[in-house]
Amino acid sequence: MFYICRRDVIFLKRFEQNLEPCVYYASCCDFGPSDLDEAPTLWDTLPAYSASNHDISLAPEIVKTIENTVDNLDPTLRTMSLQIHAHPELMFEEKYAHDILSDFMESHGFTVTRHYLGLDTAWRAEYVHGKGGRTLGINSEMDALPLIGHACGHNLIAVSGVGVAIAVKSALQIHNVPGKVVLLGTPGEEGGGGKIILLERGGYRGMDACIMCHPSVGVPNSASLVSTLAMQSFDVEFFGHSAHAGAAPWEGTNALDAAFVAYSSVAALRQQIRPDHRVHGVIQGTEGAANVIPDYAKMKWYIRAPTRDQLVTLRQRVQACFHGAALATSCRVNIVSSMVYFDLHQNSVLAEDFFNTISSRFGVTLGSRLKSGASTDFAQNTNSNTNDILELPSIHPSFAIPTLPKGGNHSPAFAQSARTTEAHKACMAITKGLASTGFRVINDDKFFHEVLTCRSFSPFCFWRHRLTCDVTMPGNRGLPGFQNLKLSYSVQ
Ligand SMILES: [Zn+2]
Ligand SMILES: [Zn+2]
Repeated sequence: MFYICRRDVIFLKRFEQNLEPCVYYASCCDFGPSDLDEAPTLWDTLPAYSASNHDISLAPEIVKTIENTVDNLDPTLRTMSLQIHAHPELMFEEKYAHDILSDFMESHGFTVTRHYLGLDTAWRAEYVHGKGGRTLGINSEMDALPLIGHACGHNLIAVSGVGVAIAVKSALQIHNVPGKVVLLGTPGEEGGGGKIILLERGGYRGMDACIMCHPSVGVPNSASLVSTLAMQSFDVEFFGHSAHAGAAPWEGTNALDAAFVAYSSVAALRQQIRPDHRVHGVIQGTEGAANVIPDYAKMKWYIRAPTRDQLVTLRQRVQACFHGAALATSCRVNIVSSMVYFDLHQNSVLAEDFFNTISSRFGVTLGSRLKSGASTDFAQNTNSNTNDILELPSIHPSFAIPTLPKGGNHSPAFAQSARTTEAHKACMAITKGLASTGFRVINDDKFFHEVLTCRSFSPFCFWRHRLTCDVTMPGNRGLPGFQNLKLSYSVQ
């Protein structure tokens, strides 16, 4: 079975160029959120909230302050989001975003430290009200991806952090609650571990909790609070010896062959690893002449696993592929490992409060309950079983923005999704929810005690006692099981 459908543009281009047309096969599984034609309709009707269904624990006047503040900021946040989107900057080069965000925070009464802790594009914005009180931390990511720009939607994360910080500041001021808000501009999430560097340099010291959000694919108007995979990357270099590829190939040692043998070895390994493990890589710097035996090849690899222990096991097997390729081709190999991103542990009490707010105020439903296949440098903040790293009560919800099928994070289509008005609307609802939960961290002693004493996280149920679940499996279309599984929940 084949289809042309959304790839018909490529098909036509090739046809126009008198190239042989390609046939594209439908993949067996499409985990896209919804049908192409269906999605825009659904996104037209974001549920309006009303005060009548308000059942969150903050006083109504505080909720009003937080939501009014975000509403007033909304047009400016939208403009800044689009500006950052139009200036995609790679990790640790987020100069434009650094400047406009730190200037904006300063104009709103925050004390700003630019180029924070030796990172040129990191920044810190702090506001203190009264004496004592707890400290809420917030992260704003800013970096984009090579070639495909803001295909992870960090422009939305950036302005959400700004909105949360200013909304909580307003609530502290207007309702005279002592406390501190610290917003960090965190560079280099896409592989650079900016938050890990800031953590190791003391950037999160003094925070009582830290919150942020991330856009993703998903059912319209939904959010997820699942964990993410531990991750590590490798720069792998193979060194060989050049020779004339026709006249004396036996005098050469082919480094590009080593890279391809490594790639093939990993491809074979994939069948023997667990389905929730990931290994993916590219060959970099492919310039060269076809009549010269390449004496150098460079690869970049990422490996991911649900826990750090599993990551260590996977790492040994993947590195064996690199060493095996070097042995097979008589090349020398050099492997440089990056820092490890840990698996994410979301605080169940913060998660429950946040979800209660966004569901009751904005009708946001629960999205995926499966562990994400992505990773984040924020996870280091949420782990405690290393010597020098604290466990910081945290949430990192992902929220759905409208996407095309197969147009998820790290695709060019997602970059387009991240600049839509619907994505911004969803981001603003999440921003209000985060600000409400963040304010409770500062203001509500009993709540914060619960936050501290209930740090465990189960990706399948963070509601503690309150969830009922109905499972129905209508129809018989498609693959058996999950594709047709429908879950409905009620929070009691
Ligand atoms: Zn991202
Ligand atoms: Zn990303």
